Amino acid sequence: MADFDFSEAEIHRYARHILLREVGGAGQAKLKAARVLIIGAGGLGSPLALYLAAAGVGTIGIIDPDVLELSNLQRQIAHTTGRIGALKVESAARAMREINPLVDVKTYPFKLDAANAAGLIADYDVICDGTDNFETRFLLADACVAGRKTLVSAAVLRFEGQLSTFKPHADPDGPCYRCLYPEPPPDGLVPSCSEAGVLGAVTGVMGTLQATEVLKEIMGIGESLSGRLIIWDALTMSFRSVRLKKDPECKLHH
Ligand SMILES: [Zn+2]
Repeated sequence: MADFDFSEAEIHRYARHILLREVGGAGQAKLKAARVLIIGAGGLGSPLALYLAAAGVGTIGIIDPDVLELSNLQRQIAHTTGRIGALKVESAARAMREINPLVDVKTYPFKLDAANAAGLIADYDVICDGTDNFETRFLLADACVAGRKTLVSAAVLRFEGQLSTFKPHADPDGPCYRCLYPEPPPDGLVPSCSEAGVLGAVTGVMGTLQATEVLKEIMGIGESLSGRLIIWDALTMSFRSVRLKKDPECKLHH
């Protein structure tokens, strides 16, 4: 382990990772060197933040403009009742630091927009979409293609979740988010969780699957989800995997 410049405490902390042949000291060192940006400190962002911090991802940024409300706590498990009224990014940062003080957490208490997206994602290797609105989702997806960043994207509604990875810069045959959804749906056509509801544990499952894919992308292990969409129905407890193809007419011309 001396080759990887870990302290005794780090070797203890990450012992169950280092035991894994696919991870080992080399994989753990990749996690320590990695920089991951989480968009949204909510139902998906909570398990993302907790598992990525626990895993020893060296730098984790989290962006969300909102303050914590009582109705968030049914699913947003990085937060606590006592922190209602606090900025969600500060609450999530506190949870991450309590799990793993070795992680460098950066907080951005504002909305991702066209003016700041490119600059923000430039500082990170892997980007996680845990947003709850199409405007931010499309803005982020386009910025990731332009900035050549790997985007691990999850979405939840009611009892269902979706997950995929988009990295056309690294997978020339791979789709981007716009190859799947060329344009945002008309306003009001697809309800949000605040309109239609979501089972809290469904966000936990999807955020945890998303965290797993982020860790795999960082370490380069297993099969990437680029080119595949996972659809999970919690009511029937069934997973489907759908092939996604690059759209030769994609407006992003990747
Ligand atoms: Zn595309």
